[in-house]
Amino acid sequence: MSAAPPEITIPADLLPGDGRFCCGPSKVRPEAVATLAEQAGEYLGTSHRQPGVRFMVARLRNGLAEMLALPDGYEVLIGNGGTTGFWDALSFGVIEERSHHLVFGEFSGKFAEVTRSAPHLGEPSTARAEPGSAPPLVAVDGADAYCLTHNETSTGVAVTPTRPEGADPGALVIVDATSAAGGLRFDPVDTDVYYFAPQKCLASDGGLWIAVCSPQAIDRIERIAASDRWRPASLDLGIALENSRKDQTYNTPALATIFLAVQQIEWVNEYGGLTWAAARCAESAAHAYGWAESSEHATPYVSDPSLRSEVVATIDLADDVDAATVSAVLRANGVHDTESYRKLGRNQLRFALFPAIEPDDVLALTRCVDHVVGELRSGGVGARP
Ligand SMILES: *Cc1c(COP(=O)(O)O)cnc(C)c1O
Repeated sequence: MSAAPPEITIPADLLPGDGRFCCGPSKVRPEAVATLAEQAGEYLGTSHRQPGVRFMVARLRNGLAEMLALPDGYEVLIGNGGTTGFWDALSFGVIEERSHHLVFGEFSGKFAEVTRSAPHLGEPSTARAEPGSAPPLVAVDGADAYCLTHNETSTGVAVTPTRPEGADPGALVIVDATSAAGGLRFDPVDTDVYYFAPQKCLASDGGLWIAVCSPQAIDRIERIAASDRWRPASLDLGIALENSRKDQTYNTPALATIFLAVQQIEWVNEYGGLTWAAARCAESAAHAYGWAESSEHATPYVSDPSLRSEVVATIDLADDVDAATVSAVLRANGVHDTESYRKLGRNQLRFALFPAIEPDDVLALTRCVDHVVGELRSGGVGARP
């Protein structure tokens, strides 16, 4: 157990309006929660096989198609199990024989491990890069699926999805967009399976997976579903496809999660969709990195500005200031979840810049950090052990 943080009170006029900066589960807009409360009597606790909930699922699927400007023929699939469950579903229902993975952090590494340990698949290939950077996407002979991460949430590195030049015909581009979808721009035509969960940019709760699939990906899912490969029903994407087309899930979903995601998607669409949401995240990112670059006690962790994420900021602090202490003081003042990714082991702050978070609140957060660092230094407390 760590000791209690030094007693530092951040002046109220420096504090953000909302102190939630977690990278997932992330801030849910209070307006969305209020709307859920208003409509709960007609919605929560009703059958997911009846029109009320199915209509909400249709709003989710159609709203996403609008928000992400999906081309004709792309379909939105949903199911239970979050992104981690969907990795298993991909191994059963989309990867034919051999996948190629860009591994540059915790999440991309986990998915590569799923396919490596799957007994029905060949050995995957991986291209690795040190945390804080990203490997290039290069075609590999025999790869039928290229697996990338749009935003590596553990390190704050973002790459734009592309198709590798010279890949085998029919190879699919599969993108983990869990923390990117709805906050970072991309061109859907460069992806075949763009998948995510609603507890990050969609400002809802976890437990659901959502996958935007190209016609080629749908073909692959249908082909594997018709084959004799064994797969558990809850991870069978053929079954998920059938249910999604009826605005249902194979088993019971969390109704509140779907409702809150719809609130966020329709809020974003009201202002112009992904273009607007991404611009809002870019504004927050400019506050965070601009501050860190001009600060003498903070530095952006990702040294290449073109790889710096506009949805998750990672900021190293100077050696004489303990980042964990700063985060603990912030937490005691109602500013939550600025701790760095636990396994990265750096003297770092990490915080979300998702669309639901006000850019002004990000600015306020940077001022709170400055205040806390100033107090720690002047009091001689909280230096790195
Ligand atoms: C959060 C996250 C995951 C895990 O999502 P779950 O829904 O908790 O399984 C996977 N990949 C990335 C990039 C993430 O940010």
